[in-house]
Amino acid sequence: MKIVDYLSINTISYPENFLINKNNSDQNNMIWRMAKKRKISHRTYIITFKSKEFELNPVWEKAEWLGKHFKASIMVKSSLTNKYTTISRYYSCIFVDLDSWKQEVSDEGSEITELTRNDVKGLSFIIKVYKGGIMTEYLKSLAKNEKIALKGPLGPGLSVDNLSGEFIAVAGGTGLVPFLDLVHYIWVNRNNPHEFKLTLIVSFRRKKDVFAYDLISATERAVNSNIFKFVLIVSSKKQKPCLRELLIENGKQKPKKAWVCGPSGFNSFVAEVLMQSGLERQNIIIM
Ligand SMILES: Cc1cc2nc3c(=O)[nH]c(=O)nc-3n(C[C@H](O)[C@H](O)[C@H](O)COP(=O)(O)OP(=O)(O)OC[C@H]3O[C@@H](n4cnc5c(N)ncnc54)[C@H](O)[C@@H]3O)c2cc1C
Repeated sequence: MKIVDYLSINTISYPENFLINKNNSDQNNMIWRMAKKRKISHRTYIITFKSKEFELNPVWEKAEWLGKHFKASIMVKSSLTNKYTTISRYYSCIFVDLDSWKQEVSDEGSEITELTRNDVKGLSFIIKVYKGGIMTEYLKSLAKNEKIALKGPLGPGLSVDNLSGEFIAVAGGTGLVPFLDLVHYIWVNRNNPHEFKLTLIVSFRRKKDVFAYDLISATERAVNSNIFKFVLIVSSKKQKPCLRELLIENGKQKPKKAWVCGPSGFNSFVAEVLMQSGLERQNIIIM
């Protein structure tokens, strides 16, 4: 067997039905169009895309679908060479519709800061726009119906077969995105017995960056604390000792897996502290 054949066998294939692929088109080079864009916190936007050929399955059917991401590509003209080059970045995928979830939480009597009705269903990304950020400034500038090339869904995601056992998820900023479906699962099953237990630790640099807080805290209030614990840390520098302590304490509980998602420096800090707490490296999934 040639090495290229071997490598292609080992790449993760696209999970069937994750995207409803109406014409059996190529998922390596899909064209999606911007359908809706909404600000959800300072510099953070939820952007929904639609496509004539593809639809996101309205529900996740398998736990292994969770936490996957898409590769977004655009052509950018270099100011130095005047030549176009392709720029690609990755964005996590979520199934839960935050607006419908907000409505459910509000119907249960919890206060929600801003209620909006979702009239557009599609593939949504939550992005933080950076000043000078090539892709995020581009995504923010997209007008309705403007195009983006996407490839995916990619990656091993949360690497779980089923939601059973105790887990911890540690997120830095928009690293929270792949965990929102898990919190929603707990919300949906708040009155049903299930085997999934989660501690979610989320760290944001500034209070104004925080998003999805209402939904996560409403879920925390709706279930017993041995099912779901939520810790929000704001201001990473001052609270680094607090994050370290929390990680040590939670790592010692020997969760089945610890998922870590954030900027690379954050990920390596969290993984290192979790290993110091006695958690084995193979049970730490850096996303
Ligand atoms: C698997 C994976 C999933 C991801 N999912 C998401 C997601 O769901 N949502 C999301 O918003 N991002 C996500 N990212 C990050 C994303 O791919 C881009 O790196 C990010 O959007 C910045 O791209 P950009 O082209 O706008 O910035 P760039 O042009 O690459 O950077 C320009 C400047 O922006 C600033 N900047 C860029 N990234 C960061 C950062 N992480 N922290 C601080 N400053 C930064 C820096 O000042 C940098 O010099 C994910 C990354 C990976 C690898």
